[in-house]
Amino acid sequence: MRFHKAETAFFVFSALILFGALATFYAWSLVMGPADALYLPGRVEAIESLQTLLLATGLLLTGTLVFGLFFILPQIRTQVQEGGKLREMTASLSARSRNLEQAALTDGLTGMQNRRYFDDALKEYLGEFRRIGKPVGLMILDLDHFKQVNDTYGHDVGDEVLRSVAKCLKGMTRYHDVVARLGGEEFAIVAPNMDLELLKRFADRMRKAIATLSIDAGATQLNVTSSVGLALWDQEETAEDFYRRADKQLYEAKRQGRNRVCA
Ligand code: GH3
Ligand code: MG
Ligand code: MG
Repeated sequence: MRFHKAETAFFVFSALILFGALATFYAWSLVMGPADALYLPGRVEAIESLQTLLLATGLLLTGTLVFGLFFILPQIRTQVQEGGKLREMTASLSARSRNLEQAALTDGLTGMQNRRYFDDALKEYLGEFRRIGKPVGLMILDLDHFKQVNDTYGHDVGDEVLRSVAKCLKGMTRYHDVVARLGGEEFAIVAPNMDLELLKRFADRMRKAIATLSIDAGATQLNVTSSVGLALWDQEETAEDFYRRADKQLYEAKRQGRNRVCA
């Protein structure tokens, strides 16, 4: 078994105190008995030994005190400080890893969930909703001719458009809907508990809301439109197949001329 420096110091300290206590008991045994018995023959030597013993005990205890003050106390202080530092470090590390985790699932530009979060959430939702047999809808929304917005008004205005669209989508969705920016100017919404008719109306409301957004582009106000691909989960297909089906509908909406919902 290995002892820490502070533990060893404590054992030395205890041993010194023990020696002090033993010496005191021995001193007591030397002069034990009635006080006037000290005048009996042979007691003078005992008293002389007692004097030496008391001096030695005094020195020993003083040494012990010095040892405790200059060796044990600094050890304790260092340990307490190190313990505090360690606690601070652990707290800041776990805060950092929480932030990193959060950052890994959040889109930096819009503050909404990102593709990674969406992929996991979609799988999780399908697992859950397979169990309870309730519908799950998926919408993939892509801004129309967004490249032109960047080319005409600049990348910063393009970013502002993305932020406004994100805010609009978040404002229109329900607490349990998953709303994510998949990348570029493409967004996805997982909307559970709605049949196809409701979903279509919901998607169209969203499309119209985006079309009425008015974004500040310096001298002018600018409008954007979006195309939406919509699919209702068939309770069987994998998340990948479900996504592919909604994506095909998005492609169809673009093909038919954009600014529309296809299901
Ligand atoms: P379509 O109607 O067919 O969707 O045409 P589009 O121009 O919207 O699509 P395209 O894929 O040709 O262009 C997408 C553009 O989105 C190109 C790219 O510069 C822009 N983009 C992607 N990510 C960002 C971003 O974070 N900020 C800005 N400002 N633009 C971005
Ligand atoms: Mg686009
Ligand atoms: Mg796109």
